[in-house]
Amino acid sequence: MAAMQDEHERSLAFAELALNQIKALRQPAMPRNYEIWYVYATGYNVELNQAINEALTTGGRLTDADLERLHDCYLSHGRTNDRIDRIGARVLSEIDDMMSLLADTLGTTATFGDNLEGASQTLLLATDHEQIKTIVERLVSATREMQQANTALEDRLSNSRREISNLQTNLEAIRAESVTDPLTGLGNRKHFDRVVSDAVRTASVSRRPMSLLMIDIDHFKSFNDTYGHLTGDQVLRLVGMTLKQTIKERDIPARYGGEEFAVVLPETPLRQALMLADDIRRVVMSKELKKKSTGEILGRVTLSVGVSTLKPDDDADALIERADACLYSAKRNGRNRVICETDPEFRKVQPARVA
Ligand code: GH3
Ligand code: MG
Ligand code: MG
Repeated sequence: MAAMQDEHERSLAFAELALNQIKALRQPAMPRNYEIWYVYATGYNVELNQAINEALTTGGRLTDADLERLHDCYLSHGRTNDRIDRIGARVLSEIDDMMSLLADTLGTTATFGDNLEGASQTLLLATDHEQIKTIVERLVSATREMQQANTALEDRLSNSRREISNLQTNLEAIRAESVTDPLTGLGNRKHFDRVVSDAVRTASVSRRPMSLLMIDIDHFKSFNDTYGHLTGDQVLRLVGMTLKQTIKERDIPARYGGEEFAVVLPETPLRQALMLADDIRRVVMSKELKKKSTGEILGRVTLSVGVSTLKPDDDADALIERADACLYSAKRNGRNRVICETDPEFRKVQPARVA
């Protein structure tokens, strides 16, 4: 219920910002423009915000045509599907072109074969120098044609290879977008679910250690209530960035949801995971938060972290559940701390949670 109330307040804050923009820029308050400014206010669509900021810096205003273009480019709902459809259509047209070029080249090869055949027969019957010369000239010209056809085919093949590799890059970008949390740039929940299952499977097969951190910002609701959701969003970005900077390359951070984060730690035993969790906690706590627009000092935020490590017979759900129970225990024991299953604090609160 409290979460719904929060969401309600959050969305109202964005709605107000959107309407203020529409009023300030004297634009029609139609759904399209409202959607543009609402999404702008959330800051989730980084590309849209950059495009708007650039347009405003260069032109000072946004015309109706600008808004139409921005909507089509960055918000149109079928955007991802459209992009995939366009790539599919380009692949098909590449294949069509290649097929017809191959058919042409095969035709040229067949003609060349016929020419050779004809030449060898006429050569048998040739009686003088002039006749032989004519046959050789015909053969030279047929060979040249054949060479030209081959060169065209080679050029076209190498163009096609380039084009297909571009299309692959585009598809990869779309795939990456679908598993990225737009606010923090970390993997989203979908990404986390896949990564944690893969890591558990790999660790179980190889019998290597692996651990998991579940991280939750302390009293974040009151931070939002005091400083507003947009400032709250900045804090989420900061925590996301700190995670990226503190962990090793093989570790995988994700935004688990709301103000919760997770880090999958392959090849990491419990002790090492605990040290890393504490590093993350300290780095975030050490940052004095400042409001970008006014320079106002906002204090600090702290983190609670639950750590679990893989046991034989664990699946991903069991590992997540234990990290989550440890996180709950960290909250119960005063927040701003790291707890794992072997800590006495964990055992103390565990029965209550199970009950
Ligand atoms: P605790 O220490 O027990 O974790 O307290 P808390 O206030 O952090 O936890 P609670 O679950 O009560 O509130 C979480 C808050 O996180 C509520 C919601 O407003 C905020 N939140 C969730 N997602 C976002 C987001 O994307 N942006 C912002 N600004 N706030 C968010
Ligand atoms: Mg939470
Ligand atoms: Mg919290």
